[in-house]
Amino acid sequence: MIWIFRKEKIVLKDRIITGISKDKSIRFFAVDATETVKKGIEIHQLFQPDSIILGRLLIAAIMMGIDLKSDKDRITLKIESDGPIGGALVTSDKNGNVKGYVNKPGAAASKGIIGIKDAIGNGVLTIIKDLGLKHPYIGTVKLIYGTIARDLTYYFVKSEQIPTSISLGVLIDEHGNIRQAGGFMVQLLPETKEEIISKVEKNIRSFPNLTDMMDMGYSIEKVINDFILKDLSPEIKRTVPVRYYCDCSKEKFARGLKLLGKEELEEALEKGEKLEIVCHFCRKKYIYGENDILEILNEL
Ligand SMILES: [Zn+2]
Repeated sequence: MIWIFRKEKIVLKDRIITGISKDKSIRFFAVDATETVKKGIEIHQLFQPDSIILGRLLIAAIMMGIDLKSDKDRITLKIESDGPIGGALVTSDKNGNVKGYVNKPGAAASKGIIGIKDAIGNGVLTIIKDLGLKHPYIGTVKLIYGTIARDLTYYFVKSEQIPTSISLGVLIDEHGNIRQAGGFMVQLLPETKEEIISKVEKNIRSFPNLTDMMDMGYSIEKVINDFILKDLSPEIKRTVPVRYYCDCSKEKFARGLKLLGKEELEEALEKGEKLEIVCHFCRKKYIYGENDILEILNEL
């Protein structure tokens, strides 16, 4: 039995698919991010509603990042809001690597708040595209809906003028464990014919729910082919594995420690203090002792 379970897991490995309808008028993205979201939630030890908020943001970032051109490009989704979670941030690249955090884990639940919108509160959603240029591209929308998916839909229409439909789902069982996490995104290219638009609209309207379908064993490929782009002959162009991944290192944070300045570093040395940094994204702890601090001071 265990063997079968494992085999199934390999088949349903986290991945994103992207492609286009045969008539080249509708782009689609779909992601199975179940293990990725599980890992993020495990790292930060989140429960509801934080787990759902981070999960949805991770899924969205994966789909928005996959279009980036260079390996170094990054897309960041940042929520700044007045709700108990105190904001959140996720970042991804074109290779399906994603990571993120919520600012105040556990704060919403401790206040008895379970709704996503209430946990987020009022604020803004900012999309930052760092394409290695002097200035990143920044687009901001007010969080009107508080579901993240609808707020992003609004962002695409307002800031990028791309009619977009987004679905983000995190399915949690009665014990708070992630059962499924995934999403899809459909974008209309300019000059999409009216009849095609109404066809895809009808498909999406009549589609039950992504994570419920995934839970019944439907793959994201099948969901796109048989439901979302039904009768539109979708062609998958790319399949990219997806993972929760943090590229932090002791050296990288040491560069950040230089910003503390000579005085503060020397003071730590004198007092025999160790400097400690915890990565926001992966919770890994880095400790800088005397030798490390001396090394940093030498480079100043
Ligand atoms: Zn890290």
